[in-house]
Amino acid sequence: MRASLGEKHISGAERLLVFAQLEETASAMLHRALRHPRGVAERIFLTLQPVPRAQVLKRPLLSLSTFAVEDWRQGRQCAAELLEQIGLRSSLVQRAISLLAAGPSPCGGAMRGAMLVDVVSGQRLEFDQSRGVRVSRLDIDPAAQSAIELLLRAKHLNNPRVVEAWVLASKVALYPQIVAELCWSDDPDYLTGYVASAQNGYQRITHLKESGSEIGGRIYFVRPATDLVELIDRLQLEPVLFGAPIPEYY
Ligand code: AMP
Repeated sequence: MRASLGEKHISGAERLLVFAQLEETASAMLHRALRHPRGVAERIFLTLQPVPRAQVLKRPLLSLSTFAVEDWRQGRQCAAELLEQIGLRSSLVQRAISLLAAGPSPCGGAMRGAMLVDVVSGQRLEFDQSRGVRVSRLDIDPAAQSAIELLLRAKHLNNPRVVEAWVLASKVALYPQIVAELCWSDDPDYLTGYVASAQNGYQRITHLKESGSEIGGRIYFVRPATDLVELIDRLQLEPVLFGAPIPEYY
């Protein structure tokens, strides 16, 4: 689903479901688009496409950790340190944070999808800077749903926002062309963001922006000389269901 108000991106959501869940989920998405804190959507697109079951990959979620910080300044400092631990240059990290904070779409607001940034040159690589790249065809494996809920409940984190971001970060981290991800929400009420990587997992940071700000987004840090068409194709189209994280990494 994606919803907009004029040029403004309001909300989006991606699921990978069995036929029997389609009507209920489509209705929940419509509800979300019509009652979003970013505004009431004026145009809502729902796209439903068949995916052959045999093509669906099954993978474990990334490990999950939380870094509690007092405010967004501390949070951004924490994000910078985590990205540098993965091997990103400090100057690149600072530029990336400024890019997200300034509103990465050409009109200065949130994009519909993610930015791709070359880890060496720092250049933006996505073909359309208001759309970005939307990762799709991903979900929790229904067989793992209750185990994942238990895990999250034990951490007092059992809410759909955490699950959505965790699944999204886990799909992005499957592709070795992407070194790391930085995200904070465009929802004015949701201040938590994260750094994610195959190396260190999904690292939530409790504050990455000021309350009330509608500027947020995602940056995927891409290795140089990546075949972008192939990468974008897999991010958008490769269907993946996620199970609980592998215990030794959790
Ligand atoms: P959210 O975490 O839903 O508040 O989204 C924050 C930002 O992340 C959005 O403004 C988009 O720029 C980006 N984003 C959201 N969903 C996706 C997705 N499925 N794939 C790539 N980027 C996304």
